[in-house]
Amino acid sequence: MTVTLLGSASLLDRQSGRRGDAAYLCALAADPAARFLIMAGHTPLIAADPSGLWFSAAAIQRAAIGDAEPLFLGILPSSQAGYFALSACEASAAKLASHTDLHAPTDIRTIASSGSLPAGDVALAGLARSLFAWHESARHCGWCGAKTAMTDGGWKRRCEPCGKDTFPRLDPVVIMLVTDGESCILAHEPRYKPGMFSCPAGYIEPGEDIAHAVRREIHEELGLTVTDVAITSSQPWPFPHSLMIGCTAICLPGPLNIDPAEIVEARWFTRGEATQLVAGTHPDGVWIPGPQAIAHHLIRAFAEPA
Ligand SMILES: [Zn+2]
Repeated sequence: MTVTLLGSASLLDRQSGRRGDAAYLCALAADPAARFLIMAGHTPLIAADPSGLWFSAAAIQRAAIGDAEPLFLGILPSSQAGYFALSACEASAAKLASHTDLHAPTDIRTIASSGSLPAGDVALAGLARSLFAWHESARHCGWCGAKTAMTDGGWKRRCEPCGKDTFPRLDPVVIMLVTDGESCILAHEPRYKPGMFSCPAGYIEPGEDIAHAVRREIHEELGLTVTDVAITSSQPWPFPHSLMIGCTAICLPGPLNIDPAEIVEARWFTRGEATQLVAGTHPDGVWIPGPQAIAHHLIRAFAEPA
């Protein structure tokens, strides 16, 4: 299964073996071909002209954004140009806007669902959002409490006093399409907008494999027993740094018993109804996440089996 948006930052060669070479990264960033993505909080700044997400070093300097060390995203294989991400304070973002025509700030979910940027660019904005979120939460050492410093182009933080390194955090989540063969079960969680149903999901816990996490989550949230767990797809989900692991599972007969703390309503949808949900034409007005989310693709694969 191909997940089209927020899928994979495969546009760039991450050069993971050279991130520790500060001189190499400095030379890449100083090259006029280098391009910079700018995050203002959790929102990428987007130029109204075709350059979109990518700003030149000159534009960065004019807005005085370049003081902080940038995160290294990788190089574009065709040109060998370095691609970086910077975080801009409110004043710097305003200064940039004073000499560059910018689109109104839009969160990454909305950008992904609108299709206004190439999928690879949206994925890179998501990567930058995840990395910046981790840096915000890892400013102090978890062992000794001292301040840590960013290194390796933003892919590591080091505590000088105790010598410990920490690495970007990734939270694995299982998300599953559970079916009895004829219908699939979807849930409405308390945090969802009215009418939205999606695949049940939950974090994998230490000591679990993926299949165990699927069985446990479905039993805890819906009271159902599932078998035949299969992994079908995966997707980075940068809110803030999850990896969604898409699975299917077969439900054994048994009563539905939902956990009201997690689920407001769970409902079985026939294959025909799943087709309506994918098309956005379900007669009850209920709806599912758009194609930027892995849930959409799990439900679509059930509605339109190969
Ligand atoms: Zn320490």
